[in-house]
Amino acid sequence: MFRYIKKHIFNLLHPTIGEVWELHRVTDEEPADINQREYEITPQRLENLIAEYKQNNFEFISVETLPDRLKNKNSKHKFIVVTLDDGYQDNLTHALPIFEKYNVPFCIFITKNYIQQGYPPYKMLQEQQIQQLAKHPLCTIGSHTLSHSQLSKLTEQQQTEEITECKKWLEELTQKKTDIFAFPSGYYNKTTLQILQQNGIRLSFAAWGGPLRKRIKYNQLTIPRIIITEKGMKI
Ligand SMILES: [Zn+2]
Repeated sequence: MFRYIKKHIFNLLHPTIGEVWELHRVTDEEPADINQREYEITPQRLENLIAEYKQNNFEFISVETLPDRLKNKNSKHKFIVVTLDDGYQDNLTHALPIFEKYNVPFCIFITKNYIQQGYPPYKMLQEQQIQQLAKHPLCTIGSHTLSHSQLSKLTEQQQTEEITECKKWLEELTQKKTDIFAFPSGYYNKTTLQILQQNGIRLSFAAWGGPLRKRIKYNQLTIPRIIITEKGMKI
């Protein structure tokens, strides 16, 4: 009971101002492994969600404008930032048409080795498709390391390689600055944050943590997200 009251007071003091959604695959195909459902959503469900949030006056904003919205917390509308991790090809073939239809900005976090070496059984984006997306006015390309390792388990040197190799490659490929990042599976430590800072990453995302709230000061290198799947939302 006490815990319930505490939570209630917290919610009153810190109402939600927005959410950062974390998606993975957007597909109609049945996954071979039922656990993989945790990382999938059908295009239909995604479209319904976006329509529902728009109807409720949520504003879909780009990842670049998030820092301003965090500072100016008195905005009339709540916001949603859409992000997709890893670089699945269905983000282009299945999700992009929905984002275009509803004018929803989105950010794709790409893992270099998944693109160059593949990530069976999934179809990943090709380099040329990443270039195509990078030019799209609704899309931002962010980096998601070289090999998708749990960064907090690596040495400083390994972490540096994971972060800089992917960023450099994406910048050459897209001819754009890549200063937005997401931790693979959400793992990071103090060293990770130092390396991100040294390499000019200005915004970085955790894998979970729930909605963004009023009167809470967020570290721009550990912004919480909410995982969106076919089954629902995970915080
Ligand atoms: Zn990932």
